Amino acid sequence: MECQDYGLTRKSERENLNLNPLQRGGVLPKEARKALYEFSDGYSVCDYCAGRLDEITKPAINSFLDDLANFIGTDHARTVHGAREGKFAVMHALCRPGDTIVVDGNAHYTTHLAAERCQLNLVDVPHSDYPEYRIKPESYKQVLDDQYDRGEDISLILLTHVDGDYGNLTDARSIGKIAHDYGIPMLLNCAYSMGRLPINAKELNADFVVGSGHKSMAASGPIGVLGLKDEWAEAVLKRSAKHAVKEIEMLGCTSRGAPVATLMASLPLVMERVKKWDLEVQKTRDFVGKLEKLGGVKQIGIKPTEHDLVRFETPIFDKIAQNHPRRGFFLYEELKKRRIIGIKRGQTRWFKCSVYGFTQEQVDYISRAFAEIVSAYDDIS
Ligand SMILES: *Cc1c(COP(=O)(O)O)cnc(C)c1O
Repeated sequence: MECQDYGLTRKSERENLNLNPLQRGGVLPKEARKALYEFSDGYSVCDYCAGRLDEITKPAINSFLDDLANFIGTDHARTVHGAREGKFAVMHALCRPGDTIVVDGNAHYTTHLAAERCQLNLVDVPHSDYPEYRIKPESYKQVLDDQYDRGEDISLILLTHVDGDYGNLTDARSIGKIAHDYGIPMLLNCAYSMGRLPINAKELNADFVVGSGHKSMAASGPIGVLGLKDEWAEAVLKRSAKHAVKEIEMLGCTSRGAPVATLMASLPLVMERVKKWDLEVQKTRDFVGKLEKLGGVKQIGIKPTEHDLVRFETPIFDKIAQNHPRRGFFLYEELKKRRIIGIKRGQTRWFKCSVYGFTQEQVDYISRAFAEIVSAYDDIS
């Protein structure tokens, strides 16, 4: 049998400005590209392993994990394969099938799947109505009170720090406080925040935090971060009875090569970039302002936005699409002509985008492109 050509070439990032929020925080700096090359072979971090991945000293995974724990304000840190695997590990360690957990109404699908895999019941905390979709501490309190009144035990509370639909930043500190008042541990899902903005689990009253290396920490991935307080180490980092040094929830070893090497190479840069988070937010707010000025473009979710992921409703582009020979594809094609990608083909009613990491000059170019497109179709909108 002969294999086909699988098309393994990709110039998307090199030749275009990519607005896909999913990909903005996972772009590798050159240091990480070098590490990716050096550690490209399978099991490449295992040359000097004495049985525990997290204790390897060459490359210095042990010191890296200490630095990482410091950076996110937890007592322990481990790498996992993604934010989802981190959530699953915590649920699996803390809950039994049939247990109930409480989750925010903007939770990522992977929160739901991790819970399903552990056979848990989910109770949702509703978000506020259109257009804000805010998750409020008082709604958590209400749901917990209701459950308590019904005599239902809650094993775990989950909160999405920044959700992937609206980019809403939640008040983790207050919700963590409520969780503690009820004596329930809280897991904060920082897939869209850890590595973009400063995270301190202790200050945010989170017992657990998970992060995503490929989403927000400039790593190739798949790789995630799991941070926890010491009081949960016994449950979540429990060792095997048969293989005394291996941690059960980690299935012994997690990331065993290039993914962890890229995360390690990027950590010093990530530690620096979170200090400039305010500038990223300001840049995004200015960008939102410029797009809204076009008319027929409206940011939804919390305003002014507190994150680089923004969701726009775009009736202006929908109107053009209805009268354009290329229909809904026109927007994608007009942007592509200008070497801007990341907005799905055919989508014109609304879209999500991010200008995270772009220079002001690049953001200006992007805003101008949208303005040009709007004015080019003045007659049909
Ligand atoms: C992207 C995302 C995830 C999934 O992250 P992985 O690291 O790919 O598992 C989980 N939660 C939220 C809120 C996300 O945006």
